[in-house]
Amino acid sequence: MGKARTMNCEHFIAGRSVVEPNASYVDNRAPATGEVIGRVALGGVEIVDTAAQSASSAFAAWRDMRPMERGRILVDIGRMIRANALRLAEMEALDTGKLLEQAAGEIETSAQYFEYYGGLANIFYGDVINIGAPYHSYTRREPFGVVATILPWNAPLNQAARAVAPALAVGNTVVAKPSEETPSTLVEVARLAVEQCGLPPGVLNVVLGTGREVGEPLVAHPRVRKVMFTGSVRAGREIGRVAAERIIPLTLELGGKSPNIVFDDADFDAAVTGVVRAFTVNAGQVCIAGSRLLLQSSIRDEFLRRLVPAVEALKYGDQDGAVFGAITTVAQFERVQAFHELAISEGAVRLTGGAAGAEAGRGLFAAPTVYSGVTPDMRIAREEAFAPILTVLTFEEEHQAVAMANDSEFGLGAGVWTRDLSRALRMAAALEAGQVFVNEYMAGGIETPFGGYKNSGYGREKGIEALTHYTQLKCVTIRI
Ligand code: NAD
Repeated sequence: MGKARTMNCEHFIAGRSVVEPNASYVDNRAPATGEVIGRVALGGVEIVDTAAQSASSAFAAWRDMRPMERGRILVDIGRMIRANALRLAEMEALDTGKLLEQAAGEIETSAQYFEYYGGLANIFYGDVINIGAPYHSYTRREPFGVVATILPWNAPLNQAARAVAPALAVGNTVVAKPSEETPSTLVEVARLAVEQCGLPPGVLNVVLGTGREVGEPLVAHPRVRKVMFTGSVRAGREIGRVAAERIIPLTLELGGKSPNIVFDDADFDAAVTGVVRAFTVNAGQVCIAGSRLLLQSSIRDEFLRRLVPAVEALKYGDQDGAVFGAITTVAQFERVQAFHELAISEGAVRLTGGAAGAEAGRGLFAAPTVYSGVTPDMRIAREEAFAPILTVLTFEEEHQAVAMANDSEFGLGAGVWTRDLSRALRMAAALEAGQVFVNEYMAGGIETPFGGYKNSGYGREKGIEALTHYTQLKCVTIRI
């Protein structure tokens, strides 16, 4: 990755960097090395107000711009991201501790979001409704105004692009708050979008700071008319209360404990590879990680005989040939350690992996870990680890697999591994999850709608579907 370079981050408002008088900062550390790589401004209510006013002032002109022109600007942002792909991937990798290869994939996806929603900007419109003479009735899809986008740290630019591109495409302006742990790439892209792609100042603003100091006042700000939040259930609830009070719409993308269900007729090679990838990609710091393996009991022993060596063969952290990098934040690393302690205290059987040792000077690295002997009532079967940890449960019959999979507060993803098409279709209908993957976990793309059931959230991102969540519908009826 090369030597760490300095990545100082300031707020980006109305097309320029904004440094507050008496600004305070927090050090930004690279999780893979512990090195300080820069500092991040920490704002408060004043900066939120400045950004919201800026987005509000820019709204009317952006809304009224010909959609084809808005779309062209978004496509140009996608191209700009591609032109800067390596540099952005290096920044992202340094900031998050993820591998450069993983970061590069996420930067590519970020470019795709801007290109895709740029292409949709002028083909998303209302309907004509025939109610008979003497009327003409039609619908208009109108933007809300200022959208607040509050983001986590696990896939920073990818999640930002996923939220920002559709919001802008249909004419909203945005105030985005990245995680204070990983703000670098979004600040850079917002700047380049204005300087190189013709994005009007104020259309995309980035404010930096903590959830308490910046996130909360942003959701409460009277100019903000819609909130998109990605993060924990705890914060989602808090934001939901404020949004309910203000009667503004909210999209929530929260956590998961997604089941990956393997039947006795599955293609074992594909299932082993897919199960390993589903819980280890990005060190398991993926909301839709397949972190709960449900095995048909008749194949349990044979499947684990193949799975465990495949997990043990994985290189990670700073090892040569690593397939995933570091845990991104110190707080998350501590949560991972606590999850291991919980697993042991609940009597789970560790088949490989375990808590990290206390080697001085090492990065925040977590070993891929498999726990068996897990029962559905254990906390490690129910709570999200957000780490490369797999909990293994068994079932006898298909209906038990459904009951066990659905016995969760979450409902983000579910994987099914079977060669029986009828069973796959029955399972897909019965599983309580926003995404069901058959024979390839996390299959899909920017075009496929994404979101949760139950405590995993509501509203949808990605695909054309996202545009409906960034618009409000007006019906016009004219007596002719
Ligand atoms: P978090 O909820 O602590 O923080 C997320 C963001 O919200 C940060 O920017 C934070 O500063 C801000 N925030 C926190 N409290 C807030 C409040 N009261 N008001 C306004 N803003 C607030 O979550 P995290 O630790 O950063 O991320 C991990 C969690 O995010 C996991 O639970 C994971 O499953 C979830 N996640 C979900 C998705 C998805 O698409 N469903 C994607 C990534 C992460």
